[in-house]
Amino acid sequence: MIEMTLYGRGGQGGVTLAKLIATAYFQRGKLSQAFGVYAAERSGAPIQAYVRVDDEEIENTNQIREPDHVIVLDPTLVGDGILAGASPQGWVILNTTQQPAFSGRHVATIDATGIAVRHGLGTRTVPIVNTTMMGAIARVFGFSFNEVLAVFESLGFGGANVDAASEAFESIVIHEYEGEPLLVQPARNTSPIAGLLDADVGKRPTIRTGSWATRRPQNRSLTPPCNAICPAGNDVQRFIEAASRNDFDGALAVLLETTPFPGVCGRVCPAPCMESCNRNLIDEGIDVREIERFAGDNAQWPVPSVPMRKERVAVVGAGPAGISAAYQLAKRGIHVSLFEAADELGGVLRNGIPDFRLPKHVVDREIGFVLMHGVSAYVDATINAAALRDLTDHYDAVFVATGLQTARTLDLGGPVEQGIVFLDRVHRHDVVLHGQHVVVVGGGNTAIDAARSSLRLGAASVRILYRRSRAEMPAIREEVEEAIHEGVELVELALPYRFDERQLRCVRMILGELDASGRRRPIVDPTSNFTIPCDHVILALGQEADRSILDKSCPTRTWFGGDFDTNAGTVAAAIGSGRRAAETIFSSLVRGADVSSARPRTATIDDIHPRLFTHQRRQTNARTEAQRCLSCGVCNSCDRCVQHCPEGILTRADQVTFDYDYCKGCGVCASECPRGAIVMAEL
Ligand code: FAD
Repeated sequence: MIEMTLYGRGGQGGVTLAKLIATAYFQRGKLSQAFGVYAAERSGAPIQAYVRVDDEEIENTNQIREPDHVIVLDPTLVGDGILAGASPQGWVILNTTQQPAFSGRHVATIDATGIAVRHGLGTRTVPIVNTTMMGAIARVFGFSFNEVLAVFESLGFGGANVDAASEAFESIVIHEYEGEPLLVQPARNTSPIAGLLDADVGKRPTIRTGSWATRRPQNRSLTPPCNAICPAGNDVQRFIEAASRNDFDGALAVLLETTPFPGVCGRVCPAPCMESCNRNLIDEGIDVREIERFAGDNAQWPVPSVPMRKERVAVVGAGPAGISAAYQLAKRGIHVSLFEAADELGGVLRNGIPDFRLPKHVVDREIGFVLMHGVSAYVDATINAAALRDLTDHYDAVFVATGLQTARTLDLGGPVEQGIVFLDRVHRHDVVLHGQHVVVVGGGNTAIDAARSSLRLGAASVRILYRRSRAEMPAIREEVEEAIHEGVELVELALPYRFDERQLRCVRMILGELDASGRRRPIVDPTSNFTIPCDHVILALGQEADRSILDKSCPTRTWFGGDFDTNAGTVAAAIGSGRRAAETIFSSLVRGADVSSARPRTATIDDIHPRLFTHQRRQTNARTEAQRCLSCGVCNSCDRCVQHCPEGILTRADQVTFDYDYCKGCGVCASECPRGAIVMAEL
C-alpha cells in the first residue's frame, strides 16, 4: 500500500487534489482512497488530506500517520513537522519557490502558486493550486500528461487547469535524489526556506482530549462459550486460532496443556463446544472436533522433557481419567505409578469404544506420549481395598479412577450377555454372529456400539430395544443417527421380559409423568405383548461404580475422579476430572503451586458483532475451517480497531493500547471490533 499525506489550507483544493491523485491510480487499475480531515475550519485554516493506493481492497479508514509521500500545497506550511512519521524513502513535493533544507530526502518543488495565479486559478490572495500541483505530482510519480488529462476529464476539469498542470508538469524541480534520478533539472533557487510560518501544522494532531471525554475504550477479555463448556478444560479458541494460521504444531501444543488425547477426543467427543458455538446463530458452528483430530493426527508431537521431583503418586485405573491425572502429574515432575486391572491400558477407550470409531493406533499414540513422561504403568494389577490402603502408605497421594465396572442386569430367563463384555470380546476378535438375530437392550453409548459392532460382524438383523423414545436416549445423537443409517432397527417404547425359543417377548411402554431425571417415566402397557426373533441378547442398561475398593473408611491422601466419582459418562469429562485432581494433588504436595482457575464470564452473541462476519458454511479444510472461528470475546490481533480509529491513536504490541491523551471516546474501535474485545467505559 502507498500512503500520502497532503498539507494545505482551506480553499486551496487539497481534498480535491487527493481525489485527483487517487483517480489517476484508479485509472491505472489500482484501488485507491482519498479523504480530508476538516470540520469547521474557515478558508485559509490548515487542513490535511490523505490518499491510499493498493492492489487489494483497502479496509483502513483512519488518518495516515506514517505516509510514504508528503505533499504540501501552501508554502507557509513547509517545515520540519511535515516529515513527522514520513518514510525517508518517499517523496516530499512542495509548493514553494525556495530550496528546502530537508537533507537526505527526495524533494521536488514547484511554484504552484505562481503558476496558478498566472493562469487565473482562484484569486491572487487565495489561489487554487490543486490542478497545478497535480501536473507536478504526476511527473514525479511517473504518469504521462495524457493520463493527467484523462483524470481531469473524468472529474470535469479543463481550460486553465490543463494549462497550469501542463506548465507544472514541465517545470517541476528535483532538489535531491540519492539513486537514479527521475527528473534532472537544475534548481532555480537554492536559498533555504527561512523558518516556519505556521508552527502547529504538520505534526500529529495536537488536539488533546482534555477533560470533556465522557468515556474511553478498554480491552476486554471474555471466555468463549466453547472454552466455557469444554469438559476437558481445553482452550478451544486458542488452539483454533493457531490452526487458523496453519500452525498445527502450535495448536497441538495448546491442546497438550490440558489433554493428552486430542486424537481420541477428535473422534469420539460429543463436542458440546460445537453446540455452544455462537457461530451457530450466524450460519454453522465451527467443526472443533475435526480441527482437533487434524491437529492430533498431523502435527509434530513434542518430545517431552520433564523435571524430576521427589514426590510419588499412585494412580489406580488407566482409563482417560487416570491417564489424564498421570500425565498432568508427570509433566510437573511427580513420579507416577499407574495400576490397571486389565491387561492393557486405556479403559473404555481400549475395550469399549469399537475400532471403527476409535482406531487403536490413536489410543496407542496418545497413551505412549503419556508414558514418555516417565510414568510407570502396571497392568493385570487389580487394586482392592487392602491394596489401596497399602498404596497410601507408600505414596504421597493416591488417585482412584476405576470407572463403572458393575453392569445393571435384567432376568429374562435365558442366556444374555453384558454389552461391555461383548464389546471387550469384539476388541479381542472373539465374536461370531454370522446370520444371527441380535437384540440390544438399552439406549446409551454401549447399546449403540454393541449394535453397530454386531452389524459389522455379519448379524442377520440388529435391533435396539429402548423403553423410552429416541429423544430420551442418552447415547451421543450422531451415533444413534449413524446406527439407524447403517441398518440398525430402533424399537422405541419397548421392554423385553422373556427370552426363549429364539424369541424375545416384549411389552409396549407408554410415557407418563416426568421422573427425577427430568424425562417422562415409561409405564408398561400390559395388553401390548409382542415378540421379536432373537438369537442373542445383549444388555446395555448402564453401569455403576464398584465401591468395594473404598472399604469402610476411605484412606486419607486419596482423591477420586472420572466416571467412578462423577458418572459424567464422557471421555472429555474424565480427562477434565483427572486433570483437576492432579492439579489439586500437586498443590497439596508442592507448596505455592497455583490451582486458581477463575475466568471471566462467557461471551454471548450479544457481546460480539455478527454484522462484521460474512456468512460461510463449514469448510472441509481444517485451516480454512479454523479461520471461521469468531474468537468470541478474545482479541486475535485482527487490528481492525487500529485501522478504523479516526484519530489514529491505537497501537498494538501484545495487546492494543489507547493514547487516552488524544482519544475522544468516539467508540469506533469498540463498534468495529468483531469479537467484542474492546468496550467503552464511562469515565
Ligand atoms: P474407564 O474408562 O472405565 O477406566 C477405568 C479403568 O479402571 C479401566 O481400565 C478399568 O479396568 C480400571 N479398573 C477398574 N477397577 C480397577 C481396580 N480395582 N484396580 C485397577 N484398575 C481398575 N464417551 C465419549 O465421550 N464418547 C464416546 O463415544 C463414548 N462411547 C462410549 C462407548 C462405550 C461402550 C462406553 C462404555 C462408554 C463410552 N463413553 C463415551 C463414555 C466414556 O468412555 C467414559 O465416560 C470414560 O471412559 C470414563 O473414563 P474413566 O477413566 O473414568 O473410566
